Amino acid sequence: MIPALLSNYAPANLSFEKGEGAYLFGNDGRRYLDFFAGIAVTSLGHANPAIVEAITDQASKLMHISNLFRIPGQEELAEKLVNATFADAVYFCNSGAEANECGLKMIRKYFSDNGQSERYKVIGFENSFHGRTLATIAAAGQEKLLEGFGPAMDGFSQVAVGDIELVKAAITPETAGIIIEPILGEGGIQVVELEFLRALRALCDEEGLLLMFDEIQTGMGRTGKLFAYEHSGIIPDIMTSAKALGNGFPIGACLAVEKVAKCMIPGTHGSTYGGNPLGTSVANVVVDTMTADGFMDRVAQISGHLKQALHGVVDRYPTVLEELRGVGLHLGLKCKVENSALLDALRKHGTLAVKGGDNVVRLLPPLIIEEEQIREFIAALEAACEELA
Ligand SMILES: *Cc1c(COP(=O)(O)O)cnc(C)c1O
Repeated sequence: MIPALLSNYAPANLSFEKGEGAYLFGNDGRRYLDFFAGIAVTSLGHANPAIVEAITDQASKLMHISNLFRIPGQEELAEKLVNATFADAVYFCNSGAEANECGLKMIRKYFSDNGQSERYKVIGFENSFHGRTLATIAAAGQEKLLEGFGPAMDGFSQVAVGDIELVKAAITPETAGIIIEPILGEGGIQVVELEFLRALRALCDEEGLLLMFDEIQTGMGRTGKLFAYEHSGIIPDIMTSAKALGNGFPIGACLAVEKVAKCMIPGTHGSTYGGNPLGTSVANVVVDTMTADGFMDRVAQISGHLKQALHGVVDRYPTVLEELRGVGLHLGLKCKVENSALLDALRKHGTLAVKGGDNVVRLLPPLIIEEEQIREFIAALEAACEELA
């Protein structure tokens, strides 16, 4: 007999009864400080009162209707995202992978509509993560994602991040676009140089390619800006969001500039649930909260304090920690010990963080953390490092 639940995950033997702000209450009777946030999802904290209110209010009226009718909350959310970003239009779906699927389809459709249907290939980067669908695993190109699932979908290639000459060399007459995470999250909080992002923009302009940013993890305030592209001074043509957009309610979005968005005419793409009244009622609250005066300044400020304290710990435990990486509250500790050993020790000391590639422990606290919680985390981290040193 196999377990009734498919064994595609290997969960820790711990579950939670409830959450409150930056804390989780385990079924083991312990309280945990959450520097994990459901992998950069619950950025406004657990059981956030404004979100609970929006969801209960909307659920009691109308959860779902279908995109065969107008959905005012969805139109409102699209307006807000258009006003807050480079984009001219937004499509809503239910997850990050779906948002990327839409973006990748948009790239192909744009060239098809412009009489260049031979241009459909997309260049991505090694160690990327874009989701688990057939197209998104092909876009990321990592062997561990593709293994066992037959020939990878045609039209994707990868180069190492950081060297613009490698990207130039990978361009062929069939190339249509470039997809990149401004910070490689699953890859271990690998911050892409802003110069490189600017060089990609310039290259796309020169070659007539579309530039797509996967901001599913970096977006919605994680780096101290609503979206990470804002740090670079350039804009992509397409950008995806999900994770923190719904603070735990499943919703994704694909944003695009007009010339691309206008190719998606009725019938070209869709989703049953995407942008339904319940999901968009939640995301409206998330966007309102994050775009309110001072919210992002506070994230940047608290991030400065956390980073300063973390640098101190890295300096004090050079045999355990190698370096601190990241921007805003999208942080990673590159470990000298096994990252899973540090995670276990942190958990023993009542704090949760998340594993990343390249032997990194990702620190993804909710954006609402306070100084008190930083002190608590640092104390737990020091205790963990003391044990591992
Ligand atoms: C999480 C993530 C995805 C996939 O999102 P899902 O909602 O799990 O489909 C895609 N890209 C990046 C950068 C992510 O962090």
